[in-house]
Amino acid sequence: MAQSSLLGYPRIGRNRELKRAVERFWSGKNQEQDVLNTASEIRKAAWTFQDKHGIDQIPVNDFSYYDHVLDTICLTGLVPQRYNFNDSKVDIETYFAMARGAKGQPALELTKWFDTNYHYLVPEFDAGSPKLASDKPFNEYQEAKKELGKTPKPVLVGPVTLILLGKSHTKPLAEHLADLLPIYAEALSKFKELGAEWVQIDEPTLVEDRTEEERSLYQQAYAGLASQSNRPKIMLQTYFESLNGNWDTAVNLPVEGLGLDFVRNDENRAALKQKGFPADKVLGAGVVNGRNVWRSNLNDKLSLLEEIAETVDKDRIWVQPSSSLLHLPHDVQMEEKLDQDVKNILAFAQERVEEVAILTKGLNEGRDAVKSELDANAKVFEQALKSTQIYDAKTQERVASVSESDFSRKSPFRERIEKQKAELKLPDYPTTTIGSFPQTKEVRSMRARWKKGSISDQEYWDFMRERTKEVIKQQEEIGLDVLAHGEFERTDMVEFFAEKLEGMAVTEHAWVQSYGSRCVRPPIIFGDVRRPEPMTVDMIKFAQDQTSKPMKGMLTGPVTILNWSFEREDIPAHQTSNQIALALLDEVVDLQNAGIRVIQVDEPALREGLPLRGRKGKDYLDWSVRSFRLSTSTGVDDETQIHTHMCYAEFNEIIEAIEALDADVISVENSRSHAELLQAFTDHKYERHIGPGVYDVHSAQVPDTEDMVEMLRRTSAVLPEEQIWVNPDCGLKTRGNEEVWPSLKNMVDAAKEIRARQPVGAD
Ligand code: GLN
Ligand code: ZN
Repeated sequence: MAQSSLLGYPRIGRNRELKRAVERFWSGKNQEQDVLNTASEIRKAAWTFQDKHGIDQIPVNDFSYYDHVLDTICLTGLVPQRYNFNDSKVDIETYFAMARGAKGQPALELTKWFDTNYHYLVPEFDAGSPKLASDKPFNEYQEAKKELGKTPKPVLVGPVTLILLGKSHTKPLAEHLADLLPIYAEALSKFKELGAEWVQIDEPTLVEDRTEEERSLYQQAYAGLASQSNRPKIMLQTYFESLNGNWDTAVNLPVEGLGLDFVRNDENRAALKQKGFPADKVLGAGVVNGRNVWRSNLNDKLSLLEEIAETVDKDRIWVQPSSSLLHLPHDVQMEEKLDQDVKNILAFAQERVEEVAILTKGLNEGRDAVKSELDANAKVFEQALKSTQIYDAKTQERVASVSESDFSRKSPFRERIEKQKAELKLPDYPTTTIGSFPQTKEVRSMRARWKKGSISDQEYWDFMRERTKEVIKQQEEIGLDVLAHGEFERTDMVEFFAEKLEGMAVTEHAWVQSYGSRCVRPPIIFGDVRRPEPMTVDMIKFAQDQTSKPMKGMLTGPVTILNWSFEREDIPAHQTSNQIALALLDEVVDLQNAGIRVIQVDEPALREGLPLRGRKGKDYLDWSVRSFRLSTSTGVDDETQIHTHMCYAEFNEIIEAIEALDADVISVENSRSHAELLQAFTDHKYERHIGPGVYDVHSAQVPDTEDMVEMLRRTSAVLPEEQIWVNPDCGLKTRGNEEVWPSLKNMVDAAKEIRARQPVGAD
């Protein structure tokens, strides 16, 4: 009999109970015990839900108070020196100090978990020698076993992944691995003693391009762990991509099971067909999507499982999602405002569990045993095809009929910039901001009241216009050259547009963990995306009417809207992206026709959409660049200056793509990685205008004028000074007014000073 299995379950709580509990703990409003109690209820709810649906392999230790990589750091005792850890077990203060920093103890670095929007804390390998320093996995195992009356499946981040995701290595990786293995061995034997039959060890780094040397680490690790007799069976779990070049390595490791992603693409499926599978291993068949929200086509999935069963004996198949369900919201039924056509085609974590159960039964007992479920499922898809909510013929035609010329501005950059100079008459080293200004308590509370209906539209918009007016006056007073309206009316740069575009929905409760207690509610792109009416024109026009200086129109770019939403799977990503691009293009042209001469189309998420596999990167960059161009070309006059913004400076790798966006001006993160950015300009002759952020908006410090002058001076050594803009390195939304204005004032002074020091044209 095939078994059903899950890799992990959402852990923040149906109503974000964990977020509330830990945040209250951090602010001193509740006790450690309150956090533990909340956590225990969340775990119990997850286990009993899975159990009720007959899941055979229920994961434990997939829960985390903050991050599962941090949990693994604790388990292996890799606590960096600065936290003065010398107890036998990591306590909750040290745990949260590593997560969030404490006095004189900066936090661990936070970074993206593969290509998801989840972020993990980066292990540091100069921390001293590993030791088993956490009981969490064993306690949770016992807790679940007691609750369920059967043995659950503990989940651990694997040793090789831990090392490859880490930093500050002090010796060859193989030696770090040799230090870690005894700790993992100890953990395995503990699980064995507690009664565990299987343990799931996650090695998602196996789906990335790996060198021969790195591949040998997996052999070293699993030969080592397997040779130990006192241990549960090991399910080596991979996800987010296919194994490709690492197939032989992974399949030949001396473990009892291997979990594969059969959702992301067909490459694992093809490899399985072609190469077969060892007769002594269990195959974890990840056939339903662990990270996107669409209902599975159960007929197709069952066919896939039947095909897999031609190669692998049913008794050795685990039917499971392609990854942990951590990346999904809880329950579609909580959404009361979503259109029924849309709701029908959605599956969040709970619905995914039901799918796994149905598919397992179908595989074991035959299609007839699940006939009614399959029929109901087929009907959902039939119905969806007829939905005008989802499909819009006009939008599809428009996307299909774009031609090559729709991807290019009228004239090349050199010609445009001359016309823009004549039009805008800006000084050298023009100053601007990235867009948003502090979203004060007052702004947020007005929005909350408006959403609740306790203030009228009139009152709300009067307030927003008043705030906008004020922030424009303040910008004029300190002497900024290109102004922004402040984005007070936007909670979030993607959600704001998602609410206005057809084919996209925002949800009420569909929260997923981004990092720690921070959750996001990604919009859902469920259909053809179109713009029913202008989205920003009134507000920007109002803002422009307040000043004679140029006011920036402010839009979120197509690739960022796509990457920060749940995306469609029935059409290719580049098609969705182009639909969004065309909707934005209409907005750009409307803004231009309303007299707006500078329009910024933000793309902070462009870089992070890069696929895990190097060779797929080119294709992604090609279509994402084209989408951006589509949103800023046809009908856009040479005189209209298009800006874009990105908040990272891993510029070297993608500088050609960035230049290919053909934006007249780009602002980028820079203050934390100045040297790297300058190097990129030295290596690649960048021709367009650029504002390398002169100060870090993530720091509460007011930057010195002199430091910023110095930064500009060094930039002007590698970049012609007529190309240089002066701006902070990101939006100011999360900062306080008390830091923002002195900082911007110093920034404007820095621009003045460098203009005075180095007249353009002088050497
Ligand atoms: N215009 C946006 C802002 O200023 C850009 C935000 C971002 O880069 N993430 O807030
Ligand atoms: Zn930014």
